[in-house]
Amino acid sequence: MTGPVNGEPTIKFTKLFIDGDFVDSVTGKTFETIDPRTGEVIARISEGTKEDIDVAVKAARYAFDFGPWPRLPGAERAKLMMKFADLIDENIEELAALDAIDAGKLYHMCKALDIPSAANTLRYYAGAADKIHGEVLKVAREFHAYTLMEPIGVVGHIIPWNFPTSLFFVKVSPCLAAGCTMVVKPAEQTPLSALFYAHLAKLAGIPDGVINVVPGFGATAGAAVSSHMDIDAVSFTGSTQTGREIMQAAAKSILFNKGEVCVASSRVFVQEGIYDEFEKKLVEKAKTWVIGDPFDPKVQQGPQVDKKQFEKVLSYIEHGKKEGATLLTGGKTVGNKGYYIEPTIFSNIKDDMVIAQDEIFGPVMALKKFKTIEEAIKSANNTRYGLAAGIVTKNLDIANTVSRSIRAGTIWINCYFAFGDDIPFGGYKMSGFGRDYGLEALHKYLQVKSVVTPIYNSPW
Ligand code: ADP
Repeated sequence: MTGPVNGEPTIKFTKLFIDGDFVDSVTGKTFETIDPRTGEVIARISEGTKEDIDVAVKAARYAFDFGPWPRLPGAERAKLMMKFADLIDENIEELAALDAIDAGKLYHMCKALDIPSAANTLRYYAGAADKIHGEVLKVAREFHAYTLMEPIGVVGHIIPWNFPTSLFFVKVSPCLAAGCTMVVKPAEQTPLSALFYAHLAKLAGIPDGVINVVPGFGATAGAAVSSHMDIDAVSFTGSTQTGREIMQAAAKSILFNKGEVCVASSRVFVQEGIYDEFEKKLVEKAKTWVIGDPFDPKVQQGPQVDKKQFEKVLSYIEHGKKEGATLLTGGKTVGNKGYYIEPTIFSNIKDDMVIAQDEIFGPVMALKKFKTIEEAIKSANNTRYGLAAGIVTKNLDIANTVSRSIRAGTIWINCYFAFGDDIPFGGYKMSGFGRDYGLEALHKYLQVKSVVTPIYNSPW
C-alpha cells in the first residue's frame, strides 16, 4: 500500500445550511465525519434531526410559495445555474479534495471526472430550464384543452456516500431547472462537499431557501425528509432496504471507486472458450492493482468509505468462502489502519449464492463460466436487481438479443460506465424506478396540469 501524500483541504463549512445561512442544529448536537484512510475524525458537523428538517422545509416551502425561484423565467434560472456551474469549476481542487478525504475517493478521478461532470450536469439542465412547456391537446369534444408543466413544489433529496458530488447534482440540477425548492440530506459519511455546494449556490445568487442542506443520519434526518407532510416529492438513491423504508414512510453496481458503485460489474459471465485465459488475465490485473492514499496519483483504489461498509464487505467475502465459491485472489484487508480491502475475485459461483444475489458494494467480483447465450441471459436475470449490465461481443445478433433480453435500465455494449447527462439512467426491478439524467429526470420534478375550456360555436 502506498503511503499518504499531501493535498488535504481546510474544512470551512460544518453547519447546516438553511434559508441562505449556515446555522447550528436546533439541539446543538454535532457528529463526527471520519477519514477512511485513518479512521480519525476530520471535523464535527452540526447534526440535523427532525426539528431541523422542519425548519428547512418551512424555508423551502416559503421560497416555493412566495419566493422568486418558481416564478422566474426559465432563462433567468438558467443564468444562475450557469454561474453556479462556473463557481464549481473555479473551486475544483478544493472540492475534489473534500470528496477524497471524506469518502476515500481518488482525488485525481474526482478532479478529472466527478467535479467537472457535475458542473456540466448543472449546465445541461440549465439549458432545459427555458424549454419546459405543455402541449395543446386535440380533444374529441368541443373543448380547448392544453397542459401546463408546473414545478412539483418542495423536494426532499436523500443522497448516498459513494458519489457525493455526482449524485448531489444529478438530483439538484433538474430540480432547480424545474423551479422547485429543496431540502438535501447528504449521507452522514460524506457531508463536506454538499455544504460547500450550498455556499457556492448562494454565491451564484440562487435565492435563499431554494437549496437547503441538512446533514444528519438516515434514521433521524433522512426519515424526517421521507415522511414530511409538507414535502411534495422525495428523490432517493441508496440501498434497496432504505428505499423500501422510504417508500413506506412516504406511503405511496468493480474496482472502479473501490466497488462502491451501484452499477459495479459484480457478476461477470464468461463464455467457456475464453474463460481460462480471461480468468488468468483478470487475476493478474487484480494482483497489480495499486491500493493506497487516494491523494496519490499512482493509486487505483482507496479505502472503503467507513468501518461499517468495510466490515460488511469483509463479511460478504467470508460468506462467499463458506458457500463454496473459489477465492482466486484477494479477500484480505490491506495495512493496519483505515478501511482498505484487496481486490477480490471469486469463481465457481452459483446463481443462488449470497455473493451472486446481494449488492456487495466493494471490490469483490464473482465469475461464472457459461456455454450458451441463453444460459448467460438466464443467470444475468436471476437477480432482484436490474440497474445496469454490460455485454462484450463482436456479434451484432448477440448484442441485439442480449440487450433486449436483460431486464436492466441501462445496457452497455462493448463499453462500461458510459454515462451522459442526456442518457436517462435508472433501474428495473428492486433497483428502483424513475430515471436520473436526461429530460426524463426533469419530468420527475414537474407535474402536469390539464386546462380545459369549452369552445362555443365550434364548427365541429
Ligand atoms: P448504505 O446502507 O449503503 O449506507 P443507505 O441507503 O443506508 O446506504 O444510505 C443512503 C442515504 O439514505 C443516506 O443519506 C442515509 O442517511 C439515508 N437513509 C438511511 N436510512 C434512511 C431512512 N430510514 N430514511 C431516510 N433516509 C435514510
